[in-house]
Amino acid sequence: MMPFDHVNAGSPGEAVDLLTSYGGKGRLIAGGTDVLGILKDRILPDYPDVLINLKTIPGMDSIKESGEGLNIGALAKLADIASSPEIKAEYPALSLAAESVASPEIRTMATIGGNLCQDVRCWYYRYPHHMGGRMLCFRKGVGPCYAVKGDNRYHAVMGGKKCFAVCPSDTAIALCALQAKISIFGGEGTRTLPLEKFFTPMGNVLRSNELVKEILIPKPTQETRQAFIKFTERKPVDFAVASIACVLEILGGRCMDARIYLGGVAPMPWHAEAAERIIKGGSLDDPTAEEAALASVAGAKPLKGNAYKIEIVKALVKRALLRRQ
Ligand SMILES: Cc1cc2nc3c(=O)[nH]c(=O)nc-3n(C[C@H](O)[C@H](O)[C@H](O)COP(=O)(O)OP(=O)(O)OC[C@H]3O[C@@H](n4cnc5c(N)ncnc54)[C@H](O)[C@@H]3O)c2cc1C
Ligand code: SF4
Repeated sequence: MMPFDHVNAGSPGEAVDLLTSYGGKGRLIAGGTDVLGILKDRILPDYPDVLINLKTIPGMDSIKESGEGLNIGALAKLADIASSPEIKAEYPALSLAAESVASPEIRTMATIGGNLCQDVRCWYYRYPHHMGGRMLCFRKGVGPCYAVKGDNRYHAVMGGKKCFAVCPSDTAIALCALQAKISIFGGEGTRTLPLEKFFTPMGNVLRSNELVKEILIPKPTQETRQAFIKFTERKPVDFAVASIACVLEILGGRCMDARIYLGGVAPMPWHAEAAERIIKGGSLDDPTAEEAALASVAGAKPLKGNAYKIEIVKALVKRALLRRQ
């Protein structure tokens, strides 16, 4: 690993000031489970001069439940989110998503902010520099997308245009289904937006002098039924080949509202709106779930090696919709 400075930030304002003063040469670090791997393998042509440590900011790891909903500081650990009795009871999709991430050791270090901001896992993008030179591809601003003609078994089947790396975050789809908002702090103050609007095909909307401060989740109604299911190749430590998070409002046996997001299949959390339209207003029986499963993959454009993901998504959607708890 090349040398870099390490500066502890004492407040969000201080972290933003440091980002500003170092220009593009400062990088935030929270749990370090993603960013340190990126630096160690030197996958990016630009190497930071300094890591700005957020863990020294007091209070930014809190998890607070109120009548309104849940506020989670960006530094809250995935392990704490997964084991919180309140989150298990009221926001099980998030609890299950956090618990599905990596291993207990990583969840003890990894933060929710870092999980949402982590970089992609495309194996061309992550190719280590010490093994013959990093691969400069479209996402790095130079060169083609190697996945298009290469081994694309884990890449996007939906929404890919210039880069087909999938959004790797498990918590992202659960939080989108729960209608979470994200609070961003930066040089121009605080802005809050629906989490869905945070993600872009090439990452997220964070400006160079901004950080994620908090996640806000409205309290689900009593009628809410939630599911999170993740399909992996290796259990238990693996990224999603495909995953689903759904939040359904069931009243008198009818599905009054539905939010369905897919993971592991697109550069961003994929909003399966066509599937939602099919189930809204009716009862959730086998034929309806089957129809919604088909709709969830309508328009998918698989690459040469990943059409198999479409069958997995259909099975996950059906399973999640027919789940009874
Ligand atoms: C072996 C392994 C298996 C994994 N499996 C999974 C998995 O199954 N599912 C999954 O979702 N993830 C998985 N991950 C990824 C892991 O969840 C992330 O590495 C972790 O969540 C990142 O959190 P962190 O706090 O360590 O972030 P860091 O590594 O500290 O930072 C990650 C990125 O986010 C930025 N960042 C961090 N905090 C903030 C903030 N508050 N505001 C703005 N930017 C910020 C950093 O600058 C950096 O770019 C795995 C990782 C490993 C190593
Ligand atoms: S999928 Fe994206 S990250 Fe991977 S090689 Fe193509 S452009 Fe690069």
